[in-house]
Amino acid sequence: ALAAIETDALIVGAGPVGLFQVFELGLLDIEAHVVDALTEPGGQCIELYPDKPIYDIPGVPMCTGRELTERLLEQIRPFAPTFHLGQEVTALARREDGRFDIGTSLGTRFVAKTVFIAAGVGAFQPRKLHLQGADTLEDRQIFYRVRRPQDFAGKHLVIAGGGDSALDWAIHFAQEGAHRAASVVLVHRRDGFRAAPASVARMRELCDAMQMQFLVGQISGLETAGERMAGVKVTSPDGLTRVVPAEALLVFYGLSPKLGPIAQWGLAIERKQLVVDTEKFETSEPGVFAVGDINTYPGKKKLILCGFHEAALAAFGAARYVFPDKPVHLQYTTTSPKLHKALGVE
Ligand code: FAD
Repeated sequence: ALAAIETDALIVGAGPVGLFQVFELGLLDIEAHVVDALTEPGGQCIELYPDKPIYDIPGVPMCTGRELTERLLEQIRPFAPTFHLGQEVTALARREDGRFDIGTSLGTRFVAKTVFIAAGVGAFQPRKLHLQGADTLEDRQIFYRVRRPQDFAGKHLVIAGGGDSALDWAIHFAQEGAHRAASVVLVHRRDGFRAAPASVARMRELCDAMQMQFLVGQISGLETAGERMAGVKVTSPDGLTRVVPAEALLVFYGLSPKLGPIAQWGLAIERKQLVVDTEKFETSEPGVFAVGDINTYPGKKKLILCGFHEAALAAFGAARYVFPDKPVHLQYTTTSPKLHKALGVE
């Protein structure tokens, strides 16, 4: 196993508030590592509304979810945070030396002086197929993400879903190329898609050229032969069920957030939210802070601008642990030579 990464601060969640937490810590000279279950930063802004406009970021009359994420990433660049994406923080425990041991689903380990939980509504996890036998076939013949596309080349594939992921992968495996499958059948419950119109057009073109098929229906069962899946049962809107032979089933039913392991860390929780004070936004565990949608306190509002304020005060709260012997003073970014140096704007 790789050695644990030592850091002043570990941030759980790369949503807008986790990203701005990097900035506020950076101003106080506290370096941070950031972990997110998603494969890109941005949290809800990227996952749920990348192209929708936001109108209530102070000083920014309008920007989309993606633009806000891009601007935050640019703003924190001087502090060079290290991102660990596509992995969930699963374990948090205090060490004898007062620091924290943190572990992720991919086996990355950290030893951190302070922890910032900016986990929003929880880690985004793929919505799973609730069918008998689906659990045991997961990662063998049923997949909720494509990690190695080459594994699917030359196979008979069924792809379920009506969003961009389902369409992009159906096209990828159906068209000429290194990863072309033996066959591709796209299954969606209706003949309408929540995906880029160009992808829908391309998919229909491939169907017309008989390079793939599209079936309207629901996946209603699995055909197995011994331990293996041999086919997928698809029930069409008129109630007719047919079996589509398949060696692999790729399911893209979207992502749903799960509080998951955070509930097991012994922190005070109220209605699935972490209870914090409003001076430092610290949880019931000294040195563990919670900012953004994940926390609760009297008057809490789940707004990005509130999360930004929380991140500023939490950073000052953490400075006590990172620099126990040093008083921390407020400095203005406009006038402080020390901050100019940190921001690289001298
Ligand atoms: P999130 O954005 O939820 O990010 C949390 C991140 O933590 C996620 O990426 C998640 O994968 C990760 N995570 C969670 N648990 C773990 C774990 N154990 N390990 C690793 N990673 C983990 N707010 C506004 O202020 N103005 C608006 O106009 C506005 N419009 C909105 C429109 C829509 C459609 C929606 C859904 C929300 C809107 N919001 C708006 C709310 C705003 O998006 C949230 O307040 C904001 O995203 C909260 O940011 P966050 O960083 O706290 O959490």
